[in-house]
Amino acid sequence: MKVLVINSGSSSLKYQLYDMTTEAVLAKGLVERIGMDSSILTHKPTGKESVTEVSEILEHNMAIRKVLDKLTDKVCGVLESIEEIDAIGHRVVHGGETFKQSALVDGDAKHEIRKLIDLAPLHNPAAMMGINASEANMPGVPQVVVFDTAFHQTMPEKSYLYPIPRVLYNKYKVRRYGAHGTSHAYVSEKAAEYLGKPIESLKIITCHIGNGASLTAVDGGISVDTSMGMTPLEGLMMGTRSGDLDPAIVPFVMNKEDLTVNEVNSMLNKHSGLLAISGTSSDMRDITDGMQAGEPNATLAFEMYEYRLRKYVGAYAAAMNGVDVIVFTAGIGENSIIVREKVCENLTYLGVELDKSLNAIRSDDPRRISTENSKVEVLVIPTNEELMIARDTFRIVSEQ
Ligand code: ADP
Repeated sequence: MKVLVINSGSSSLKYQLYDMTTEAVLAKGLVERIGMDSSILTHKPTGKESVTEVSEILEHNMAIRKVLDKLTDKVCGVLESIEEIDAIGHRVVHGGETFKQSALVDGDAKHEIRKLIDLAPLHNPAAMMGINASEANMPGVPQVVVFDTAFHQTMPEKSYLYPIPRVLYNKYKVRRYGAHGTSHAYVSEKAAEYLGKPIESLKIITCHIGNGASLTAVDGGISVDTSMGMTPLEGLMMGTRSGDLDPAIVPFVMNKEDLTVNEVNSMLNKHSGLLAISGTSSDMRDITDGMQAGEPNATLAFEMYEYRLRKYVGAYAAAMNGVDVIVFTAGIGENSIIVREKVCENLTYLGVELDKSLNAIRSDDPRRISTENSKVEVLVIPTNEELMIARDTFRIVSEQ
């Protein structure tokens, strides 16, 4: 079965085509700047030369059409015809309480995703555009939706409720949902597989730290707590997001600076985090370069980032009454030797012992970076959300 995985943003569309007999990626690519003057399509067929094309791509329907043209192109294509695509898997950010797992797309599913737009006003409409555009270009091909929130639907009430008037949950479903669920699920499963132990026997803390960042406490294979909340703003300090802060700051600042709701939202989501403290960049590479050059604001940004991350690791060890495995993943988790080193250096009380030479190795494979004697296994596991989406799509479509 060939599965096309689509991750549709408001002005971008990422894709990967899998052959599920071997789970090989046949091609992948990205359409950027959809609806802007010069859209860019980058197509990377496995084993062939990549192509980049600049044209005017007005909306998602057209983007999918262009992608299908590339996939079936005589030179850079990997398919004879689009009929070879057996199923399509879509990443959807918010599944609310409705979607506890991935689902086949039908009228009901689309209706429910639309109902959740209130909770993910930027993301769910983009996913709907991807679903409708796929339907228009590949009518009759089964589609599956895979949600970032679904893995966290196992959180108990004590984790997901906020201590605020219950009426807000009853009326508007104000609660914690988390995000990056597909990644946390993938790396926790992969960690158990790597260690050769049943996931049911493990307490795992997964650190998905990229531009957006979240930690999850995975107890026996189940998410029991995660650091993002009703929206991705809660939790860790991130590239441009503040993470946790005193909520009273919001009305205080709005009042003092005469800010609108949109302005304060933008301040906390786009102008905070590493960017605000360093004053220069939201990118961890720039922050660590700045720190190494002795730049005080970059140093402070790094220290705050590491400190807040470490505090969450401690919190989740407390939440599970222990931790067997800590997993680092995503852009920073997979690549930043110094972030991993500094976090682990301060977790010796948990029995973490980092092997600095293993930590310094760069690789795309899952690997251990703790010593033989470490009481906690520390692993680096490259995430693969697309593969998870392809697997769920394959499973659900095969069951029909
Ligand atoms: P997104 O959340 O956008 O998917 P990524 O998972 O790609 O983000 O992570 C982006 C982050 O990873 C950036 O802060 C970037 O600096 C960091 N990163 C990527 N490569 C490295 C590296 N070699 N060393 C340190 N940080 C890195």
